[in-house]
Order: sequence, then structure tokens, then C-alpha cells
Amino acid sequence: MRGVFVAGTQPDGNTVLLRGSNGIVVVDSGRHAAHAARIIDAAHASGLPVAAIVNTHWHLDHVAGNVALRAAFPTVEVHASNAINDALSGFLADYRKQLEALIARPDATPENVAAWLAELARIDAGAQLRPTHPVTETQDRLLAGRRVHAGLEDNAVSGGDVWLYDQSTRTLVAGDLVTLPVPLFDTACSEGWQQALERLDAIGFAGLVPGHGAPMDHVQFRVYRNGFDRLLACAASDAPADACKAGWLRDAAILIPQQDTALASSLLDYYIRQVLRASPERRARYCRKGKAS
Ligand SMILES: [Zn+2]
Repeated sequence: MRGVFVAGTQPDGNTVLLRGSNGIVVVDSGRHAAHAARIIDAAHASGLPVAAIVNTHWHLDHVAGNVALRAAFPTVEVHASNAINDALSGFLADYRKQLEALIARPDATPENVAAWLAELARIDAGAQLRPTHPVTETQDRLLAGRRVHAGLEDNAVSGGDVWLYDQSTRTLVAGDLVTLPVPLFDTACSEGWQQALERLDAIGFAGLVPGHGAPMDHVQFRVYRNGFDRLLACAASDAPADACKAGWLRDAAILIPQQDTALASSLLDYYIRQVLRASPERRARYCRKGKAS
């Protein structure tokens, strides 16, 4: 189930549904009500309840749909890392203040205010977004009667990224460890992320579902990983930011649909200047202590 990612609006992450012997496993629940409604409709059509949710990480475009899913399926298990606890008192609390300031501005349009109020409500759902079954290490898990391998990366995109490997289909559900049209660096430790991609590459997957963008095969993942490595190397060099941007657009060209090139370009303008080339303090902000480069 593809999430929507359009410039100027808040995205939904991709959702993956796996069928178990006694229910459906939902990997990531999206941000908007319409996305959660599609998941619930799909479960009803399958004749099985949603028995387990896996949240790959705590970003609102991957967890906010938990509220509606838990209302529809009250016994559902939620498997995710505990990183959301720090996020609720840190990143999301800060984001909440920014939203309140935006809402208070006299030039705010009614459409924007409605969207920001909806974001506030998602953050305020707080407790309902937390895991019932925390993922604290990489291990096999039985979800809805289906055995899957759940991995944890704690120093990459969000401080607690869960990936899922389904052996029977050789599919890796990567969450935002892989995103298109560009890597999304907002809460990432870029060097830790680079190392996580190396570990993912060692898994024998045939297909991969990214957090945003179209599914890819292992060869395409290598294209992504190579482009990622080259983007970081370029950002660390004296090359002009525009050269680094052009490098990603060229290296990852086969992965980026034509209509997403402008979005990719504007995201890279921001990430290269404001994140990858920011102060050492900013660059290390989301790296685990002792692991920052
Ligand atoms: Zn996302």
C-alpha cells in the first residue's frame, strides 16, 4: 500500500500487510485517516483481524494510524522500538510547540490550521502510539502466527529503526532505512545509517519495500546504497552543494520517477546545506553518544 508523498503536504509512509495463520500483520500505519481506513478495509476484505502492528519507527507518517487500528482491533499487539518515548518528550514535543506557534499566526490559512490541528491531535494520542511489545534486539518474532525476523538499528534514522525480514518471500521491509526520492535525514545519524545499510545489504533478500517510494530488488538497493555513500562523501568534501545534489540525482536516477525529480532536488537543497553540512553539534545531534563521528 503506497504512501502519498507530495511536495507541500505531509507524507504517509508505505504500509505492508502480511497474512498470518490467525490474522493480518500491518507494518506501519500511515499518518492520515484515509490511509488507516484503507488498511482496515483491506483487513475486513481478507476476513482476518489485524492481530499485530509493527511500526518501523516513531515518525508520525508511520505510527499515527495506530489509533484507528487499535480502535477497530482492540486486542492488536504493537511491536516497535522504545525510541518513541524519547521522541514524545523531545522531537515531537518541540514539533508540537512549532505547530502551536504556526496556528497562532494571523496569516495562517484555514486549510493550514486544520492540517496543523490534526498533527497536534496525532502527537497528543501519545500513549496509544507506544509499543505493547517493545523490540529491544534483533530476533525472530511470531506475529499473527507467522514467523518473521525483526531487526533493530538504534543509531540510524530515528534512534530505533525496526526492519522486518520475511524469509518465505525473501522480502525485507526496511522502513525509512531506505526512502525515495532521497534519504530523509531529519532525525538521522548519517554515519550510523551508512553502517546500517551495509548490514542490510548482507541479508539475502530478493525484494525490499522502502519506507517511501516503490519496492525494489537487491540490485536496485545496491544502487541506492552506493548513491548514499557517494552523497555523504561529497557532502564531506569541498565540492559545491549543487554538485552533490547532481551526483545523487545521477547515481540514483533509475530509482527516481521523473515526476519526483523536483521534490528530490528541493529536499537535497535542504539536507545538504542544513543537515549534512551543518555544525558538528547538529550533525551529531541524533547520533548515539560515543558513536558520533
Ligand atoms: Zn517516513
